[in-house]
Amino acid sequence: AVTRKDSYSITLLPGDGIGPEIMSATVGVLSALTSRCGFELEFAEALIGGAAIDAVGDPFPDASLERCLSSDSVLLSCIGGYKWDSNPRELRPESGLLKMRKSMGLFANLRPAKVLDQLVDASTLRREVVEGVDVMVVRELTGDVYFGTPKGIDVVDGELWSSFLAFGRDDGVGGGSGVGIFVFGSQSYSSSGRKRVGYNNMIYREDEIERIARVAGDVASKRSGRLCSVDKANVLDVSQLWRDVVTEVISSEFADVELSHMYVDNAAMQLIRYPKQFDTIVTGNIFGDILSDEASMLVGSLGMLPSASIGDGIGPGVFEPCHGSAPDIAGTDKANPLALILSAAMMLRYDLDRDEEATILERSVEAVLDMKLRTADIKQEGDGCKLVGCIEMGKAVAE
Ligand code: ATP
Ligand code: MG
Repeated sequence: AVTRKDSYSITLLPGDGIGPEIMSATVGVLSALTSRCGFELEFAEALIGGAAIDAVGDPFPDASLERCLSSDSVLLSCIGGYKWDSNPRELRPESGLLKMRKSMGLFANLRPAKVLDQLVDASTLRREVVEGVDVMVVRELTGDVYFGTPKGIDVVDGELWSSFLAFGRDDGVGGGSGVGIFVFGSQSYSSSGRKRVGYNNMIYREDEIERIARVAGDVASKRSGRLCSVDKANVLDVSQLWRDVVTEVISSEFADVELSHMYVDNAAMQLIRYPKQFDTIVTGNIFGDILSDEASMLVGSLGMLPSASIGDGIGPGVFEPCHGSAPDIAGTDKANPLALILSAAMMLRYDLDRDEEATILERSVEAVLDMKLRTADIKQEGDGCKLVGCIEMGKAVAE
């Protein structure tokens, strides 16, 4: 994130499928915004995904990384498509995305689920449950059970299995530290036969919890100030540490944030039962994976969901819609650009210190929905709205 200034450099990653179409609609909207609000965005495009594979044989070339790192923020459309699906893993578009996140140190994923009044009926849930819902899930992105070591599937002898295994992380952090933990007791394998065992370790270091808690505290204080930390501290030790550290950080650094805690099973239930009770949720990688998908369904349409991935606050963040490249409708002017436009609003708010302009952008999206313009994905039968394409939708928001 940078502090407010008059001109910002923005890297655009148009990507694949509908990516270039929604990017061009969004750039049109941003240009209208900047000329109206008296600041500048200097855009430069870079390659990622299938487009980068085709052009230079690398899903996220170094030139793109350098451009991203040297700019104030990054706006990404979406990547992928049938064309590259059978490539070896390192030549798949998705590898470019992972490389980008890792090399830019993006450890926090922000996914808002806001039900706009105009689209309440797009939700699969009842109107009285979803009306007014505005939840932000802050998910930790680089730790947890996804990256803990040791991991794997082994065949073990029932009598011999009682190993103390060194733990660490995939990226080497904490790895080979010599600290031992007892993973599986031999009593589970008392029979003499050989059995398979699968294992992953949920690991969080104190500093990893501190930094995500700071992001969440920051986000919550820019919203209503209510923060709910979700864990499984009644069962998991790592969750007890999570709970303790989040409590320490928020109580000592965020006087204006009101913190509560909830077990993940209850949170999953409460999100469907009474989602309006939540404002900002902070949670670990795997719980956040599940809860953010669940929260997104409160909104209903993929074409409306923005997201932000941010790091230590020094480097730029990456702002992108939750949806994929929609190859089935690419090139037909049917894509909904609003998720990317709303991602650009998050960029203004969380990376460029332009909260007011972010709000103007969000209001403009709502104004266009009030004018009853709808792309196909958010059009309901008999809703009396006008069906428009990506280009017309972008122009309407810009206006
Ligand atoms: P990925 O694995 O990259 O997330 P996916 O398999 O989840 O991709 P998407 O590309 O997101 O799939 O598309 C899922 C469906 O939603 C498709 O039918 C697609 O056309 C539609 N869709 C996705 N994004 C949009 C959008 N912005 N506007 C309109 N329709 C969309
Ligand atoms: Mg998907």
